[in-house]
Amino acid sequence: MADTKHTKVLIIGSGPAGYTAGVYAARAMLEPILVQGIEPGGQLTTTTEVENYPGFTEVQGPDLMIKMQEHAAAMGCKIVGDIITELDISKRPFQALGDSGTHYTAEAIILATGARAKWLGIASEEKFKGFGVSACATCDGFFYRGQEIVVIGGGNTAVEEALFLTKFASKVTLIHRRDELRAEKVLQDRLFKNDKIVPMWFNTLEEVYGSDMPLGVEGIKAKNVKTGKITDIPCKGVFIAIGHAPANELLVDKLELHNGGYVLVEPGSTRTSVPGIFASGDLTDHVYRQAVTSAGMGCMAALDAEKFLSEQD
Ligand SMILES: Cc1cc2nc3c(=O)[nH]c(=O)nc-3n(C[C@H](O)[C@H](O)[C@H](O)COP(=O)(O)OP(=O)(O)OC[C@H]3O[C@@H](n4cnc5c(N)ncnc54)[C@H](O)[C@@H]3O)c2cc1C
Repeated sequence: MADTKHTKVLIIGSGPAGYTAGVYAARAMLEPILVQGIEPGGQLTTTTEVENYPGFTEVQGPDLMIKMQEHAAAMGCKIVGDIITELDISKRPFQALGDSGTHYTAEAIILATGARAKWLGIASEEKFKGFGVSACATCDGFFYRGQEIVVIGGGNTAVEEALFLTKFASKVTLIHRRDELRAEKVLQDRLFKNDKIVPMWFNTLEEVYGSDMPLGVEGIKAKNVKTGKITDIPCKGVFIAIGHAPANELLVDKLELHNGGYVLVEPGSTRTSVPGIFASGDLTDHVYRQAVTSAGMGCMAALDAEKFLSEQD
């Protein structure tokens, strides 16, 4: 017979938002259950040094996430290794089905399923991810002070990242497969006025190359989409900036989404369009996308859920 677990608060996701919600919900005596999903610890488990999480001058991403998991568990949050495959939020108690076959029922749900940077999917990109290839300028730009950098993309993300990276880099080459950008005009203006940014039109990333010991980027090969000509660009960092996709598969047509699929919340809160469902972290944030802001929203979601449940009582 299928296992059924009932909880006052079900937390879906185990990144900074999910674990922080777990700490706060457990301390509010809500006996939360947190389902970790396919990537226990979330996006930070895919990186190395994190230098901007308060309290840690430098910490390895996976180590930070183990500490957060231990913290949530120590406060009494029940952490389950499962993936939610179906969600019914049309009425309370809300229902969720786990890949394990477990049925979860909950009076309130905190969504913390995060987002994913989009990648190109080429082998050398994968090889150097975290070792010179990044999808987050705010996170990793600081490591490239005085160095040459390449940014791939032509939308808002790419232009914003390129502009931000000029604070650190000596030169930023922006590689785009067309000869015009999709980014907003105001961003384009800023980009074209910036002497450090050199656009390279009609090109795509063909290959990232570098050293194996230690693993690190030394340059890229760009391919002209019209002529097929390969250009070698020496650089230390490659930023793939082709956008992000929120992990909203469970929510489409069930909640109000905006800005390309991010969960819409009431300003200054984590309340979604369905009472009792709260959203936190990168799933709802298309602007900041940081561990500390996600953790902050996880806290807000637990406090919002507690208030909601006390009003129901
Ligand atoms: C390479 C890299 C480096 C970064 N470096 C930094 C940095 O230095 N500093 C910084 O502040 N930020 C950094 N970030 C950004 C930071 O990791 C994110 O902003 C943060 O992790 C978002 O937290 P989150 O809790 O919203 O979601 P995520 O960390 O994305 O976690 C989402 C969670 O949801 C779970 N999940 C998804 N679907 C389901 C489902 N169906 N059922 C159950 N669970 C599910 C996943 O398993 C995962 O545990 C980096 C990101 C990347 C990719």
